[in-house]
Amino acid sequence: MLRRALFDESFSFFFTCSLWLLEQRHLGIATSGDVNQFKARIVHLIIGQKTEKALELLSQYHHVTTPKLKVGMPKGDVKRRGYYVGQNETIHVADSDSLYNPRIILHEFYHHLRTTGAIHRGTEKNADKFAKDYIATYYTYFGV
Ligand SMILES: [Zn+2]
Repeated sequence: MLRRALFDESFSFFFTCSLWLLEQRHLGIATSGDVNQFKARIVHLIIGQKTEKALELLSQYHHVTTPKLKVGMPKGDVKRRGYYVGQNETIHVADSDSLYNPRIILHEFYHHLRTTGAIHRGTEKNADKFAKDYIATYYTYFGV
């Protein structure tokens, strides 16, 4: 009878500990770890020529519509390598190299994120910062 009671007690202790560990794990998932993993994954997808998939995930994450992607600049702009047109929610890139360049894609996605209707709110500086943050996170993960 005593042995049985001891067993129950140690079992319930073990059970409480498991719940605590489980909770810690969920807390870990809810903090910065998964955000960084997400950012690294986005850059990884763009470099791996899966830019459309990256834009889809980014849009889901930020609860916005997925922007369209087009090679070729509007009005034959030769100076820029990327351009976002709010009216038709399209990211234009100069060539196929730019299509897999996370600095350009993330910069233009930031404009998409900050545009409501045709009103453009984000600054160039913040668009660059947005892109740099993703790329820096990617490098901390892949240590290049
Ligand atoms: Zn810009």
